[in-house]
Amino acid sequence: MSYIAETKPHAVLIPFPLQGHINPLFKLAKLLHLRGFHITFVHTHYNHKRYLKSRGPNALDGLPDFRFETIPDGLSPLDDDADGDVSQDISSLCHSIRNNFLQPFRDLLARLNHSAIAGLIPPVSCLVSDCFMSFPIQAAEELAVPVILLSPVGAGAFLCFMHFRTLVETGIVPLKDESHLTNGFLDTTQVECIPGLQNFRMRDMPSFVKTTDPNDFILEYFIEVAGRIPRVSAIVFNTFDELERDAMSALSSMLPSLYTIGPFPSFLDRSPNNHVASLGSNLWNEDPRCLEWLESQEPRSVVYVNFGSITVMSSEQMLEFAWGLANSKKPFLWIIRPDLVIGGSVILSAEFVNETGDRSLIASWCPQEQVLNHSSIGGFLTHCGWNSTTESVCAGVPMLCWPFFADQPTNCRYICNEWEIGIEIDSNVKRDDVEKLVNDLMVGENGKKMREKSMELKNKAEEVNRPGGSSYINFDKFTKEVLLKQT
Ligand code: UDP
Repeated sequence: MSYIAETKPHAVLIPFPLQGHINPLFKLAKLLHLRGFHITFVHTHYNHKRYLKSRGPNALDGLPDFRFETIPDGLSPLDDDADGDVSQDISSLCHSIRNNFLQPFRDLLARLNHSAIAGLIPPVSCLVSDCFMSFPIQAAEELAVPVILLSPVGAGAFLCFMHFRTLVETGIVPLKDESHLTNGFLDTTQVECIPGLQNFRMRDMPSFVKTTDPNDFILEYFIEVAGRIPRVSAIVFNTFDELERDAMSALSSMLPSLYTIGPFPSFLDRSPNNHVASLGSNLWNEDPRCLEWLESQEPRSVVYVNFGSITVMSSEQMLEFAWGLANSKKPFLWIIRPDLVIGGSVILSAEFVNETGDRSLIASWCPQEQVLNHSSIGGFLTHCGWNSTTESVCAGVPMLCWPFFADQPTNCRYICNEWEIGIEIDSNVKRDDVEKLVNDLMVGENGKKMREKSMELKNKAEEVNRPGGSSYINFDKFTKEVLLKQT
């Protein structure tokens, strides 16, 4: 029987409430919608307000089977216009998710099923959640529906995360003292207790294990969440087999029902009349000048600089990047969020503006996937968030890597060492290095090789998403074997 039957399956999707987690889950929601699912996408009140503000008041009109619902985030009241705030703070969010999210989510599910009894929407048939929250697992068990987790990080980082407990049990974590946080220890200590990672150093591990505190709350949160993961029906990954084969095979021996269904397509423009397909998920206002300005630039000439939605830096680091870019003499598009610099925004000097004004554009947020896919882009200076990494892979753009925290050091390792499509910039960034590496990337021999490898990966990423490709097949299997099994 076709799954687009009279009663549609109804998937309720709930992301960890941060931009980098919302985006991949939103793409999954759109893919499921294309497969005939009724979708409920759950934002926090705060993020939904921001979403509506960035989209305009009518953006969500005419979407009867793709609905938004909200629950409170349980954080202290926020100034809606604040740029940097507690809603971006991982520790506050983890506390609140653990203590405050389950009951409002239960209430929401009850309301949805109540509307279903009245025949207004289909009954909830599955929950899809971010893998870094465990309350949806409990809610799904109470409702007796399958729960699926999406990993917003790559398989390599997910494997590390599943082994945080191992690192504690083998006595590596917490680190002995502050001296172990210096590069020397992190650089030289090999992580040998995690099968599936090749030549990984402690430095390449997600930042959350680089702690000397035996009671570190975030580490404890992640270990607790990882312990509940084996209870779920399936886990899906925004990656593809060839990209992270060893990590995926190590994970498959630990957990059942894993599906590599990425990289999620950037543009679902196969159906031009489908309003949902063109719906974005950014919480910030995208500056339309970015794409216009790129039109005026030479092919592959522009360095695109963007550190994602959470990374912050000191004003000294900011100035080193600024002068490195200026001295490279290459055109650049630099996205500077209002809260990028710790302690307030840096005013770039008149000298810098005179030097770079006619070959640069600075904006506060952009439609990143469209930017990366623009023919003028030649390289990406990135913090290595997993979305930015996969989006760059899909666009065939080589990278300069300045990982900041979370899974970013792990992604940087893959980019630079496994796939050889990037070069790392020292965390203690210096303008001369930035200048040299930008030139290497844009016009050097090294850059040329990385560009060729990036193009090979881009082609593979396209192949896996075509009919008959591994991710295409896996998505099909996942919807039929897991989501539709009970409907
Ligand atoms: N993004 C965007 N415009 C920007 C900055 C970021 O559209 O100016 C999007 C980007 O395409 C990606 C997400 O925001 O999908 C950032 O996620 P990522 O995992 O790269 O980093 P995070 O923000 O979580 O550190």
